[in-house]
Amino acid sequence: KANRVFHPEDTVIPIGNQTIGGNKLTIIAGPCSVENENQILSVANQVKAAGAGFLRGGAYKPRTSPYSFQGLKEEGLELLKIARAATGLPIVSEIMSVSKLDKFVEDVDIIQIGARNMQNFDLLKAVGQTNKPILLKRGLSATIEELLMSAEYIMAEGNDNVILCERGIRTFETYTRNTLDLSAVLAIKKLSHLPVIIDPSHAAGKWWMVEALSKASIAVGADGLIIEVHNDPANASCDGPQSITPERFASLMGSLAQIAKIE
Ligand code: PEP
Ligand code: MN
Repeated sequence: KANRVFHPEDTVIPIGNQTIGGNKLTIIAGPCSVENENQILSVANQVKAAGAGFLRGGAYKPRTSPYSFQGLKEEGLELLKIARAATGLPIVSEIMSVSKLDKFVEDVDIIQIGARNMQNFDLLKAVGQTNKPILLKRGLSATIEELLMSAEYIMAEGNDNVILCERGIRTFETYTRNTLDLSAVLAIKKLSHLPVIIDPSHAAGKWWMVEALSKASIAVGADGLIIEVHNDPANASCDGPQSITPERFASLMGSLAQIAKIE
């Protein structure tokens, strides 16, 4: 179902009054994690003003250490809904467990499956039984074929609304958090009709690389970007070093608008 051979035209996924895919760039922006009402409202208002189409924010966080901030959980989803009501931006948040699926279907506009759950086949099958748009991130060490097979798990259950995300892969290089595989966009576009977006923030792990990698993503034909934006990166509870400020985000949007049609 994900294979381009059986579906030659690019898939365009409807979400509210917007779409993802086709000849335009979708921008999803927001903090790694929802931290409090002030933070999410201020970031949401600022990314909206700069032209973002969707708000991201983690409520359930897959952290390497069990002692790190794990997210505000249900309260995080409530705060995202407040930010959506205030800005009109549809919300994207990561699900970690099948047990939370009903809540996510009700509360969020795009359900994110994180890199660490790309091959959580029970979770893939469960979200496949909904009709929610799914943002499926490439696993830390997953091949393109494995990513497409995970999309297939979702689609095999009947949900064709899958957006793929390249977020950097693990290599021998340690200077960057991950290695952004730009060629994955070209390969995926050859093999599949599904939209593919890039996450330059998790790929680089460094905020100052985000602008150039965003431009490079456009050059290889990505359908969108998901960018971490925080009002106070130095004090963020998660992923501060890779987060850009709302001011930098606005200037990035200005330069992207010169080379792509943003919608
Ligand atoms: C995230 O989007 O904050 C995240 C945890 O991403 P990934 O699953 O790509 O590491
Ligand atoms: Mn993050």
